[in-house]
Amino acid sequence: MVCFSYLIHNYSTNPHPEDNALPPDVVRALRSVAFSLKYSLCREGQEELGDWPELELPSVYRREKLLEDLSGLKEVVYHCCINTCVLFTGEYEEYNECPICQEPRRDNRKRPRNVFRYLPLIPRLQLLFRSPKMIEKTAISSKP
Ligand SMILES: [Zn+2]
Repeated sequence: MVCFSYLIHNYSTNPHPEDNALPPDVVRALRSVAFSLKYSLCREGQEELGDWPELELPSVYRREKLLEDLSGLKEVVYHCCINTCVLFTGEYEEYNECPICQEPRRDNRKRPRNVFRYLPLIPRLQLLFRSPKMIEKTAISSKP
């Protein structure tokens, strides 16, 4: 309850000048993502934020899509063994069961039983160094 109050109070009543160029739904989405990161809100908690209509938050899926479009970063998803033995990529890409523990790759509905998601490093670094603040911080920290 404290977190929800904080979200409502801090993110919807204090305007951030740098956000003015963005549409209000995008600003709400970005603030909710910042909030989720700051408080390590799990996906279930993020989805529950959507149950508060007064927050006018887009769905978690919509926020993820929005961030993807804004940043240019695209999440990569690999099927993974349910016991995390292997990723079904490379030589295992066509496997239907884990070569280590023999667990099936998919459930009865043909969906992967486990996935591994990540953001590729190079586009993340490129995005990081588009920020003048980050460039400045890096320059300062690399001085002897
Ligand atoms: Zn396995």
